[in-house]
Amino acid sequence: MLLGAPGSGKGTQAEMITRHFGIPVTSPGAILRRERDLGTPLGIETAEAAQRGDLVPDKIIVGLIEDWLRLHGGHGFVFDGFPRTTPQAESLQQILQRHRTPLDLAIWLDVSEQTITDRISSRLQCQSCGFTTSASSAVFAERPICPYCDGPLVRRTDDDAAVLQHRLAEFNAKTQPLADFYQKLGALRRVDGNREREAIFADLTRLMEQAA
Ligand code: AMP
Repeated sequence: MLLGAPGSGKGTQAEMITRHFGIPVTSPGAILRRERDLGTPLGIETAEAAQRGDLVPDKIIVGLIEDWLRLHGGHGFVFDGFPRTTPQAESLQQILQRHRTPLDLAIWLDVSEQTITDRISSRLQCQSCGFTTSASSAVFAERPICPYCDGPLVRRTDDDAAVLQHRLAEFNAKTQPLADFYQKLGALRRVDGNREREAIFADLTRLMEQAA
């Protein structure tokens, strides 16, 4: 699983893991954005909380993960942005026991506040496939287009400065305690997330090979 503050690179690294290793990734944030865009009952129910920067209730998120595992689980998977609270982590332990799947790694992407604000203020995301890039590193003709699927690259509506402050407060209050939780289980590995995506990915690859 990939844990870390908003802008720490969880989604980017999750996508690189899928592309290089073919391991399926689940990201509750990405699922909720898609549900919102499709206007489903789940998307409508959770859109306001997500837009405020609040975490969505644990019950909804754990239900999403259970559904996803029923469809994709079995031979290795990566969680991007799950769990984010102690009750979610406790539920996950029970789910993994039921699936007879051990938790190999809890990778914590450490980032400075400067990195977070720099990345979030320039982040662009593909509306179709979720590919994430930064406005400064991408070169565009007329409008930002995804290099992978030609979808439109847009700013996430929760990436504004005020909402980010709220997301960070949620992270500090509810997600930070998970570092201790996974440290005690012996699964926590901290990685410096302030670097380029390739350097971070090289560390992740090493950790995954060691854990295999
Ligand atoms: P993310 O794409 O991971 O930044 O998530 C975007 C938003 O989705 C978050 O700010 C939350 O509102 C919601 N969300 C994503 N993952 C979780 C989670 N594990 N628990 C609660 N809410 C979540």
